[in-house]
Amino acid sequence: MSLTLKQLWQTILVRLKPTISLPSFKTWFQDTGILEKNGSEIVIGFPTPFSKEWVEGKYHIKIFQAAKEADNEIETIKYIISPSLANPESPFKVTLESVLDETDEKKVRKVRNKNEVHIGSGLKSRKLSIKYTLDNFIVGKDNRLAHAACMAVSNMPGGIYNPLYVFSAPGLGKTHLLQAAAHGIINSFPDSRVVYMTAEQFTNEIIEAIGKRRTKEFKDKYRTADCFVLDDIQFLENKDMSQMEFFHTFNDLYDSNKQIIVSSDSPPKDLDGFKERLKSRFGMGTVVEILPPDYETRFAILKQRCQDLEIVIDPEILEFIAFHMEGNVRDLIGVLMQVVSQSTLSSVQPSIKLVAEILRTQHKIQNIHDRNNRLAELSITSGLTMQRIIEAVSIYFNISKNDLIGPVRKREVLMPRHVCMYLIKHELDHSYEKIGEVFGNRNHTTVLHAYNCVAEKLKTDFRLIRDINAIKKEMGI
Ligand code: ADP
Ligand code: MG
Repeated sequence: MSLTLKQLWQTILVRLKPTISLPSFKTWFQDTGILEKNGSEIVIGFPTPFSKEWVEGKYHIKIFQAAKEADNEIETIKYIISPSLANPESPFKVTLESVLDETDEKKVRKVRNKNEVHIGSGLKSRKLSIKYTLDNFIVGKDNRLAHAACMAVSNMPGGIYNPLYVFSAPGLGKTHLLQAAAHGIINSFPDSRVVYMTAEQFTNEIIEAIGKRRTKEFKDKYRTADCFVLDDIQFLENKDMSQMEFFHTFNDLYDSNKQIIVSSDSPPKDLDGFKERLKSRFGMGTVVEILPPDYETRFAILKQRCQDLEIVIDPEILEFIAFHMEGNVRDLIGVLMQVVSQSTLSSVQPSIKLVAEILRTQHKIQNIHDRNNRLAELSITSGLTMQRIIEAVSIYFNISKNDLIGPVRKREVLMPRHVCMYLIKHELDHSYEKIGEVFGNRNHTTVLHAYNCVAEKLKTDFRLIRDINAIKKEMGI
C-alpha cells in the first residue's frame, strides 16, 4: 500500500526529528509538506524562501537519509517555496503536533514547570540551564578574569577563590558564569550538593519559612550545601532578615571551606542598604568585575549564537550589529534574534537595512530615522559622487557628516574619516587637493597620508576589509 504525500512526509519527519535539536526542528519544519512525488523524486515545499534556503543548505543530508529510510525508492529531493503552506487549510502540510509525541511535549513542559531540583536532605536548587557553560562563554579582555575565576572554582571549590564575588552592569554574563561554575563543580564532583538560587528566591523562602514557623529547618538546610551560589544579591538591599540569614549561612559554609559564589550589580563597598559586616565578608575572597565586551568579543558572541541555533547569517550583518550594540550582551543577542525572526516572517534575507530598522525601533542608533531616509535616498541616487560616499560612510559608522568632514579630532572619528578619504580617492580618483578641500580645507598631504594608511592596513586588517566591503555594498558598488 503506498502512502499519501502527507503520510510520507509525516514518516520522514518522525525519522528526522531525533537527528535535529527540538527547537530547530520546530522552527524549520513548521508548515512544510511534500507537494509532489514523481517516481524517485519528491518535491518538498517551504512557506518562505528563507526557510527553504536554510533547510536545504543545512539539513539536506539528514532529510535525504530519513526519506530513504521511509521510502527506498526516493533518489532526489527538490526544495521549493510554496507560500500557500502557511495557510491552515493547505492539503499538503503536516502539522508538527502530529509528529511530536507526548514525551517531546513533556520535555518542553518539564522545563517550564520544573524550575527546581531536589538535591537531597531537603535541599533544593534552581534548575541550571544547559545553555550556560564555561565552554560556550566567549572570553575577551573584559570578562577574562571572571571567567578564569569561575573556571578555577569549578576545578577546586572552596580554594583560594572563596568567596567569589562577580559584579557587572546588567546583561553582561553574571548569571551565565555563575550557573556555568555550578555546572563545572557538579562535573568535577558529581556527588557535591550545589545550590544555585537568586537572592529573590532566597528571600521568598525565608518569608515562607517564617510564615510556617520553620526557620530552624531553613537554617539547617542550607548549611548542608557544598557550594552555595546566590545570584543578584543586590536584591537583599534593605532586607535585614534575609541579610542576617544569609550572613549566618555564609559564615557556616565558609568555616567549613564550602564554596560561595555571589553576583551583584556593584562592588561590595557600593552595596547600598547592606550591613557592613556582610559587605566585608564579600570582600574576603576574590572580587571580579565584568566590563562591557569589546567589538571582537561582541562579534564572536553573535557568531557563536548563530552556530548554536544552526543558522547562517552574513558576517557583514553580524558585524553591523556588533558595531552598534555596545554594552549589554542580552540586548546584543536580542537584536540578532529579532533579525532572524523578522526576516523569517517577511521571507527576506536579512539586510543591513533591516538591522538598521530594528536598531531604530530600539533607539540604539541616534538619528536613525534620518539614517533610513538617507539610505533610501542613496539607493535612488544614480551614479557615485563624493557626497554619496561621505553619506554612506557617515551612515555606516553612525557619525554625523559634519563630524566626518569637520575639524573634530576624536579617535572614533579618525578611522571613519580615513576610510572615507580612501574610498573617494579609490573609487572616484579625485585629486588629493580636492578631497582636502571638502574635508574642511585640509592639506593634500593629510589626505595622501590617510589613503596610504588605509591601503596599508587593508593588507592585514580583516575587519577593515569587511567594513569597506559593507559600505561599498550599501552604495551598490
Ligand atoms: P547578567 O546575569 O549579567 O544580567 P546574563 O548572564 O543573563 O547577564 O547574560 C545575558 C545573555 O548574554 C545570556 O544569554 C548569556 O548567555 C549571554 N552572554 C553574556 N556574556 C556572554 C559571553 N561572553 N559569551 C556568550 N554569551 C554571553
Ligand atoms: Mg543575571
